Amino acid sequence: MSRDYYEILGVRRDASKEEIKKAYRRLARELHPDVNPDPAVQERFKQVTQAYEVLSDPEKRQMHDAGVDPFAPSGGGFGAAGGFPFDDIMNAFFGRGGNGGRTARDRRRGRNIRVRVELDLAETAFGVTKEVTFPIAVRCETCSGEGAAPGTHRETCGMCAGRGEVSQVARSFLGQVMTTRPCPQCSGMGTVVTDPCADCSGEGRVRDRVTRTVQIPAGVEDGTQIQLAGEGEVGPNGGPRGDIFLEIVQRPHAVFERHGDDLHCAIEIPMTAAALGTIVPIETLDGEEEIDLRPGTQSGHVIRKKGLGIRHLNAPGRGDLLIQVTVETPTKLDDEQEKLLRSLAEMRGEEHVPGKLSPGGSGLFSRLREAFNPTR
Ligand SMILES: [Zn+2]
Ligand SMILES: [Zn+2]
Repeated sequence: MSRDYYEILGVRRDASKEEIKKAYRRLARELHPDVNPDPAVQERFKQVTQAYEVLSDPEKRQMHDAGVDPFAPSGGGFGAAGGFPFDDIMNAFFGRGGNGGRTARDRRRGRNIRVRVELDLAETAFGVTKEVTFPIAVRCETCSGEGAAPGTHRETCGMCAGRGEVSQVARSFLGQVMTTRPCPQCSGMGTVVTDPCADCSGEGRVRDRVTRTVQIPAGVEDGTQIQLAGEGEVGPNGGPRGDIFLEIVQRPHAVFERHGDDLHCAIEIPMTAAALGTIVPIETLDGEEEIDLRPGTQSGHVIRKKGLGIRHLNAPGRGDLLIQVTVETPTKLDDEQEKLLRSLAEMRGEEHVPGKLSPGGSGLFSRLREAFNPTR
């Protein structure tokens, strides 16, 4: 189960950006390692910072609200992989890196990327294998991600003597503090490239367009996110890869409307067919099926075809197909048809409608009941 970052920050779910920032500032003052070096407090400080990182970023906040943990792939912790966003915030707030977390060996994690996958209704119903093409930063093969031109090597950084961090006195809202931050010359790597690789300008990665085959499971819907952990962009200088988030976009269907895993549609039948009953062929996602209209079918009646809807995501079974019947009253009658209908009305004693009213809602309610309890 992923953590509730709102609870960790102590803000409401609809908190504004400013409220979130305020809450974080307040907690950070209290829990900051410079103020309280207790390991338990530091652990809480990391959680609070992680919560802020997620809730202050509209994209990550949306993911969190949708129940996706933006930190899940790296175990939700702040190991080498998770350290980067943490450091970013620390820089924004305190003008420094994390609490001594970064060593010369740490490498920055690459970005997560988002790839839209457009699907037809049938593809979401049954699942599909798709080829998707997207731009992404990949490891530079010329220098194996090291950034140094072939035949040369990275050299120890002169500014930090290979430590990857430099110390200085800085002012923050906590007062004057001695801070240690990643070396600006080598970005905390401890080594620098003296002879950069020509293909990647020493960054160790290049931009490319890749095509990937992805399996989309049955039952996904518009807005579903599929996380491919560790398959996103490679970090600079061979840093670990971020994640890919496949974002499902479902194209509307011309006939079927999706309600959960059920499909809804409507059918118009002539008055005579409604009265006499008939079998009507219909085109479903599973091909041609028949609906059996019994004699005396009423307008508004809902026919439920079990198991012809969308397959449930990660569960056996499927939703249903619901078809609402509308009975069409003929509008253009020729003389002979009119005569026939008049004699029918006469035979049924229906020339004069009695004009007896009934309570307004009852018809609607019985139709609603019918929709939840259809005959087939
Ligand atoms: Zn290169
Ligand atoms: Zn350095």
